[in-house]
Amino acid sequence: MKLKVYEDYEALSANVAALVIKQVNEKPASVLCFATGDTPKLAYQLIAEKSISGEADFSNCFFIGLDEWAGISPGNPGSCHWFLHHYIFEPMNISTSQIGLFNAMADDLGKECERMNKIIKQEGGIDLMLVGVGMNGHIGFNEPGTATDSLAHVAMLDETTLSVGKKYFNGAMETNKGVTLGLKHFMDSRNVIMMANGAMKAGIIKKVLETESTIGIPASLIQKHADALILLDSEAATGLDVTLIHEKIFQ
Ligand code: PGA
Repeated sequence: MKLKVYEDYEALSANVAALVIKQVNEKPASVLCFATGDTPKLAYQLIAEKSISGEADFSNCFFIGLDEWAGISPGNPGSCHWFLHHYIFEPMNISTSQIGLFNAMADDLGKECERMNKIIKQEGGIDLMLVGVGMNGHIGFNEPGTATDSLAHVAMLDETTLSVGKKYFNGAMETNKGVTLGLKHFMDSRNVIMMANGAMKAGIIKKVLETESTIGIPASLIQKHADALILLDSEAATGLDVTLIHEKIFQ
């Protein structure tokens, strides 16, 4: 695990975008799993810009969805499906044959999870997973207490996730469940980038990095990942034990 701190959200996002472009240039047929949420928005806009200007060719990549709100339709702007189409697939002209997302409207969500597990296997595993960190330390919808060997599963969302989640749905949550890839997918990803920005995340980031890895804080599992990068802006790194920081990159 390597921890780098950037001056601000813009510098953080630019570096995340550069790392994704590097990954795709080194392995054009990369299997990519991108989280949704506020954290990676700017990085995705920059990746889309770079893709359009020809800095990397994503036409051989495969995109796996990390999670989805159960029962929320893909047309709902709060859904992960909508987010990925809006920020990545449409601007980057990604074809449907390159996309594997959860169908959160499926009658049998258990089967849907098995389908996602199968897709990941067929694609040869995930090359790069880019995730944010929830206010309760979740990754995707792997809520506190999730087993470290979990594959895709249906998750009951905890109170923090339901309360924070309102921001994506104009203030009213319409579900209390999610479907998500599991922590085993996270640990098995060949590369992982975890990013966080803003003072609001400083408390949970401190726990993620300074508490001994525990299922009570799922993101703390990253401490055990061999090829993980944690990239923060200076606000999210506030109060962090400085000996944990490998690089501080300020202009
Ligand atoms: P956020 O969500 O990027 O909107 O803060 C992060 C998460 O819940 O994983």
